[in-house]
Amino acid sequence: MSATVLDGKKIGRVIEEELFHRITNLQSKEIAPHLAVVIVGDDPASHVYVRNKEMACERCGIKSTRIDLDGNISEEEILATVNMLNSDNSVHGILVQSPLPKGINESMVTDAILPEKDVDGFHKMNLGRLVQGDSSGLLPCTPAGIMKILESSDIELSGKNALVIGRSRIVGMPMSILLAQRGIDATVTIAHSRTKNLSEICRKADLVVAAIGKPEFVKSEWIKSGAIVIDVGINRVEDSSRKSGYRLVGDVDSDVSKVAGYITPVPGGVGPMTIAMLMSNTIMATESQSM
Ligand code: NDP
Repeated sequence: MSATVLDGKKIGRVIEEELFHRITNLQSKEIAPHLAVVIVGDDPASHVYVRNKEMACERCGIKSTRIDLDGNISEEEILATVNMLNSDNSVHGILVQSPLPKGINESMVTDAILPEKDVDGFHKMNLGRLVQGDSSGLLPCTPAGIMKILESSDIELSGKNALVIGRSRIVGMPMSILLAQRGIDATVTIAHSRTKNLSEICRKADLVVAAIGKPEFVKSEWIKSGAIVIDVGINRVEDSSRKSGYRLVGDVDSDVSKVAGYITPVPGGVGPMTIAMLMSNTIMATESQSM
């Protein structure tokens, strides 16, 4: 048996197309949705992600402004840039690309963004709303994108055992909350680097979300036959046969597709959904600021 591939690129494009009417409606009121992306330093992967976000804005008809800051910049200067964007009424969404250079407090930078412009959904006010059971606001893009993949693929989660591997503020933790929310009703286990017997826990899961950051970490023997496997990881591994010198692999071993019922590919799974949800959040932010 070979798993059904959950095509995030295709589902993401449908989500982007569905934004079209909302964008033209805003434009008819002379409102141009506008996303500002701040990138600090020269991390090559971050530059690729930011370029992909700019291209999505171009596809959707969203104005994007990119602000490149030097890697040696101080936290105060980053905060000053965020404050400048907060007070610019033509900017509806602000995103500061992660990771920030060592020594910069990412949470402090995120929390400096006005909650209504926080299109990454990382501000403590937006995360707090989610913890209180309200998922109608600006949600973190990656977990929200995963929920959309599952929803558009008619995957029923009520009463299912879901395992989220990883407990980060941006992926694992909000993912667990979304899966456990009323109406979705999965029974959620959160695993992390201190978890014992991960393979055994994994074998009991109907849904596995791997958000670890370790190439091909989850093995096929850990997966229950027919399980749904969502691979969040984006890892660069050396590959001298490629012009770039590397290829992208997920956190899940390729053999898992022989056992799982459904699987997201890397690339082309969770990544494009994250970007589609960023576009969606930018439109939601523009609408709420234009009422
Ligand atoms: P973090 O490094 O913030 O978190 C990784 C998590 O994995 C931590 O909770 C850590 O546990 C856990 N972990 C590490 N080692 C193990 C282990 N041996 N067993 C079990 N758990 C372990 O990463 P992110 O959440 O930011 O990202 C995870 C991956 O997802 C990365 O590859 C990243 O590139 C990718 N990503 C992809 C996105 C997309 O759009 N597709 C978007 C965002 C991220 P502990 O808390 O104990 O340290």
